[in-house]
Amino acid sequence: MALRPKRRPKILTVRSSRYLSPNMVRVTFAGPELEGFPLGHEGANCKLVLPRDGESREEFDAYFAPDGPDEKVHAVRTYTVRAFRPETLELDIDFVAHGDHGPATRWAQAAKQGSFLGFFGPSQPKITDYHADWYLVAADLSAMPIAEATLEAMPKDAKGIALFEVPTTEDIREISAPEGVKLHWLVHENVHKPSLAQLEFIKSMDWPSGVLQTCIAGESSVIRSLRSYLHNDRRIPKKDTYISGYWKIGLIEDEHQKMKRAEAA
Ligand SMILES: Cc1cc2nc3c(=O)[nH]c(=O)nc-3n(C[C@H](O)[C@H](O)[C@H](O)COP(=O)(O)OP(=O)(O)OC[C@H]3O[C@@H](n4cnc5c(N)ncnc54)[C@H](O)[C@@H]3O)c2cc1C
Repeated sequence: MALRPKRRPKILTVRSSRYLSPNMVRVTFAGPELEGFPLGHEGANCKLVLPRDGESREEFDAYFAPDGPDEKVHAVRTYTVRAFRPETLELDIDFVAHGDHGPATRWAQAAKQGSFLGFFGPSQPKITDYHADWYLVAADLSAMPIAEATLEAMPKDAKGIALFEVPTTEDIREISAPEGVKLHWLVHENVHKPSLAQLEFIKSMDWPSGVLQTCIAGESSVIRSLRSYLHNDRRIPKKDTYISGYWKIGLIEDEHQKMKRAEAA
């Protein structure tokens, strides 16, 4: 039997939620629990503990009391800090609205003022040092929060290419990026079928000279092929490549994390 998280999560409350595009919902949390939230952690990840369907806040809270049950009953999922505004104590997290199969997505699609969940984190930001001659950013919807946070954090005179793969043209939206970073949008409708679009684009583009840093994340098999291209074909040093599988077709997050741990061992 799995043990419940030993630490008690912060319980965050939703202030509002809105769709950024048909397949992406932004949930804004607010409240005194966010007092002291670290600044500059946009793009860092966090763990969300999802209430069970119909669970009241009192039941959820009681579960984490010292005398609460031992068994793990809540799904925990990894997400990205999209934005934190200290002046209003507001935290944004952007969720892919990918249907009714996952507890996190179900929760986000139904979130409204007063909804709640448990929160652990944030981790350290993924990229803290921007030293490249050019940047390559590539993301599907799940990685747009880290991609957007990275584009906002990089120097204003940065140069590079940002590639976004979305399931519909309606998911294309305004993105804030340095002027020297060229944005490209690819549409891959069937997200349950692995896509080659990003790899093909990257292989066929003009490759600038100089030091490259990457911020790349998304579906695991897409990431596997991009990682192989960057490390084996292009010989880009691993220290300059943030590249990470965020989900895998057909696996829930726990199974995907288990697969990643086995591959890393
Ligand atoms: C470091 C990190 C940061 C992340 N940040 C974000 C973020 O900010 N926003 C975000 O939306 N996701 C993010 N993800 C991805 C997210 O953790 C997974 O998509 C997770 O599986 C969603 O949980 P769920 O409960 O909705 O679905 P699960 O219960 O895990 O899976 C249910 C089914 O949905 C499928 N599925 C999972 N994700 C997707 C998807 N994106 N598109 C289509 N099908 C999917 C699975 O393959 C499975 O068949 C991040 C992942 C990592 C590792």
